[in-house]
Amino acid sequence: MLNASLKELSAALAQKMISSVELTTLFLDRIERHNPQLNAFVTVDRDKALTAASAADERLSGAGGTAEVSPLCGIPLAHKDIFCAEGWRTTCGSRMLANFVAPYDAHVVERFNAAGMVMLGKCNMDEFAMGSSNESSHFGPVKNPWDTNCVPGGSSGGSAAAVAARLAPAATGTDTGGSIRQPAALCGLTGLKPTYGVVSRYGMIAFASSLDQGGPMAKSAEDCALLLNAMSGFDPRDSTSLERPTEDYARDLERSLEGLRIGLPREFFGAGMDDGVRAAVEAALAEYRKLGATTVEVDLPNSNLSVPAYYVIAPAEASSNLSRFDGVRYGHRAADYADLNDMYAKSRAQGFGDEVKRRILIGTYVLSHGYYDAYYLKAQKIRRLIAADFAAAFKECDVIMGPTAPSVAFKFGAKSADPVQMYLSDIYTIAVNLAGLPGMSIPCGFDNALPNLPVGLQIVGPWFAEAQMLNVAHRYQQATDWHTRMPEAMK
Ligand code: GLN
Repeated sequence: MLNASLKELSAALAQKMISSVELTTLFLDRIERHNPQLNAFVTVDRDKALTAASAADERLSGAGGTAEVSPLCGIPLAHKDIFCAEGWRTTCGSRMLANFVAPYDAHVVERFNAAGMVMLGKCNMDEFAMGSSNESSHFGPVKNPWDTNCVPGGSSGGSAAAVAARLAPAATGTDTGGSIRQPAALCGLTGLKPTYGVVSRYGMIAFASSLDQGGPMAKSAEDCALLLNAMSGFDPRDSTSLERPTEDYARDLERSLEGLRIGLPREFFGAGMDDGVRAAVEAALAEYRKLGATTVEVDLPNSNLSVPAYYVIAPAEASSNLSRFDGVRYGHRAADYADLNDMYAKSRAQGFGDEVKRRILIGTYVLSHGYYDAYYLKAQKIRRLIAADFAAAFKECDVIMGPTAPSVAFKFGAKSADPVQMYLSDIYTIAVNLAGLPGMSIPCGFDNALPNLPVGLQIVGPWFAEAQMLNVAHRYQQATDWHTRMPEAMK
């Protein structure tokens, strides 16, 4: 059951080989056993999960009438703690929201609940989704199940560790600059960041609104397709949600890759990538050629500007979004203060961690009078050039491939003292968010120096090419078994 695909779990539930209550209990027990070590979950609610599981069992038995039951009904799921879920504590990894109980469901949570999926709990994350290692969480770091001396990646590191350790069959994540793809890579999972606007941001605590996008994290591309089917779709409560015809993202999974043109950006294969990552990515490309694809070199000439542009735009938006956490409208309130301004200052000083404060300072600086044109406006112009680079590259290829991250999982503390080193963890993923494109990461091997640490291959497609990217990933996963590996210690 631990390594079963969502399709297999769905079939087992439909054929009554197992009940949702039994399946949910299996994962709750694993969480109880492994979470004290991994710290992947910040909140688990056995009673709520089992109540949802019995309701799913009733639906599966046909008690609700003849209405069609979703293939995901009865399958357990974990949510990144950035998604509001009614009656659940929703912390966003921050002291600021340590006691916040959400009064409503995020669109994504609502969709999965409607499908009958069983929520196991809320996953740890970098504070307000700012980070690449999960070391910035108020609730302590998450350990990588492949090597507990190493980070799981971030900011969706709790979701990634939970699925990699088989504490949940699948999880949600969010990706502002790489936070689904990078932890998926570092934990040996498949993760997909959809085209901006495909998944509603309603009820997803905002970091940088023009970049944030929710998506699935699971063992395989096929699983991600089923999850995306459930979580995507128009939502009038998010003004950037796109009204498009409903898609079945699994429709092209089996299509042949004969004639597929893979673009390899020169900028992604230069210096800066570890040898072990390069070797695994090259081997994956060789496998794709065997499957009938051809590779062509392409250029993304402005990609070296993506990290600097992102670290102007994302903090600018964050400084605005986080102004609501003032101890009055939302969030922690200091116990002692002299007057109103002192209360704001003390509440925010106590409620936010260092990385969040750094971003708020940068954000307010780049938006301030006299600097706006020099930084914020300039960054927006670069953003446009980066999107144009991708559009030009996609004239020569169907998908772009490269490494997801420059290295495999690194040791705790290795980058936390130097923010720029940490920011460079997302060097290959950030441009995709700036351009609003869909991107995914799939496991493609292990580092040869650190043989137990997984490597991720990034696949980027044109806007709305999710079905094709999932096809590209699925065919590779049929030919290889990297995605089926699980950490020895978690067995
Ligand atoms: N690591 C990047 C940051 O710290 C991206 C985070 C994310 O995608 N949420 O901002």
